[in-house]
Amino acid sequence: MPQRPYIVGNWKMHGTRAMLSEARAIDRAAQRHMKVEVAIAPPYTLIHPVHREAEQIAVGAQDCHHEEGGAHTGDISAAMIADAGGKFVILGHSERRQNHSETNAQVKAKADAALAAGLRVILCCGESEETRDAGRAVSFVKKQLKASLPDFSDAPESVVERLTVAYEPVWAIGTGKTANIEDIAEMHAEIRKLLVSVYGEENGAEIRILYGGSVKPENASEILSTPEVGGALVGGASLTADSFMGIALAA
Ligand code: PGA
Repeated sequence: MPQRPYIVGNWKMHGTRAMLSEARAIDRAAQRHMKVEVAIAPPYTLIHPVHREAEQIAVGAQDCHHEEGGAHTGDISAAMIADAGGKFVILGHSERRQNHSETNAQVKAKADAALAAGLRVILCCGESEETRDAGRAVSFVKKQLKASLPDFSDAPESVVERLTVAYEPVWAIGTGKTANIEDIAEMHAEIRKLLVSVYGEENGAEIRILYGGSVKPENASEILSTPEVGGALVGGASLTADSFMGIALAA
């Protein structure tokens, strides 16, 4: 059964309690637009406050540690996110891969841990500008994604509901540049083939694939109507209810 478009806000390292009014406004607007599934990933410190106030939207995290607990100063486990009311976690974002040197194997371990803790996972992949210019974008992304995907060996029936992939070309994140529609369509079709080969025809065909990278209300409608684009992962434009819900309305 086709799922609703999924519009996810990644607040990155933005937001104190003053931002709760935006979360409330997003939640109210989401209640009026139920044909779209809306979620936000604020900083860890706002997960519980948003969870307490939101009726319609899901709240999630932007990363987690792959272990359940232990001597890992400054880290947060998947179970802690769930305990705070988080329902999902974004993993493998390019800012984590770049700024924290996260490898595909670490991203996969985090995804396995998140699923084991009952969270849904939004797994990010994407190529650098250099890789795209060299004509290697598709092969790079497929390899990166394949090595980062969780196995789902213990619960293969829940893969569609619990896994989302986000294609985010690194050079389009926060730059105002978006990939052209043909390139988005090509990459999403290739990711779809990979998901079918990993999870089988039935599951692989249904997993949502989001596009991310400078999505805003003005370009959302074209991007979201591209084949195989099941929603958007939105950074900068998710920080105000007006622009974020402008994107959701375009879906
Ligand atoms: P952006 O970020 O919308 O600000 O480009 C997207 C993301 O990093 O998820």
